[in-house]
Amino acid sequence: MITVENLTKSFQGIPVLNGVSLDVQSGSVLGVVGPSGAGKSTLARCVALLERPDSGAIRVDGTDLTALGGTALRNARRQIGVVPQGDSLLRQRTAAGNIALPLESAGVPGPQRRSRVGELLDLVGLTDKAGSYPDQLSGGQRQRIAVARALAAGPSVLLADEPTSALDPETTGSVLTVLDRARAELGVTVLVVTHDMAVVRKICDDVAVLEEGRVVENGKLLDLIGDSNSRTASALLPAVD
Ligand code: ADP
Ligand code: MG
Repeated sequence: MITVENLTKSFQGIPVLNGVSLDVQSGSVLGVVGPSGAGKSTLARCVALLERPDSGAIRVDGTDLTALGGTALRNARRQIGVVPQGDSLLRQRTAAGNIALPLESAGVPGPQRRSRVGELLDLVGLTDKAGSYPDQLSGGQRQRIAVARALAAGPSVLLADEPTSALDPETTGSVLTVLDRARAELGVTVLVVTHDMAVVRKICDDVAVLEEGRVVENGKLLDLIGDSNSRTASALLPAVD
């Protein structure tokens, strides 16, 4: 579904991605983990076409997105929903108003927009918060609205950058449930950037470990857990003397 091939990206001559290659199976959840500064957000932003890689390819359903421009690029972007790192909702818009934003940009007419926003509020379990402003919502509720907004235009891919980083374990669960519903009910392919191994354990099928702009480990979570040399396994399992 998504194939990243040998992606490189530098900022002011400093390499941040040093040839990253990844595969994400259609309808699966890939977790990208790694220390702060490893290049996780840059990778997610490149895959979302918010940042142009210096070289390499990003194929979604076989089409290399880095080769596109103009209308084709805009259409490709619509296939990719993004939950950016940090608090990303517009403060002056209600929950429903935030979710409606991508639909307004796409020119979806009012009645259709309202029914779509209703479906998305239902998907994230926040129908009763439609008229609330971000400041009136909890951190977890804000992130669920951000996920609903990312799903509004019906993307086939969802990228979430540290969607639970500011949340306590209980609230984290509610956001993960929403990501899992997106995969299970909408068939969306999910790439989630996280430093929280609990997120990996709960929803990821596959894991990629990024260090200094390189993938140093990549595989099925179940296989990695069984491999005593795996960094993922040692991060997930309690140490044994
Ligand atoms: P992570 O998300 O894994 O913490 P990032 O992708 O945010 O890592 O950043 C990786 C490195 O790239 C960091 O050293 C960061 O300072 C640098 N970087 C990221 N974005 C930019 C930018 N727009 N301009 C310059 N440097 C950047
Ligand atoms: Mg980051």
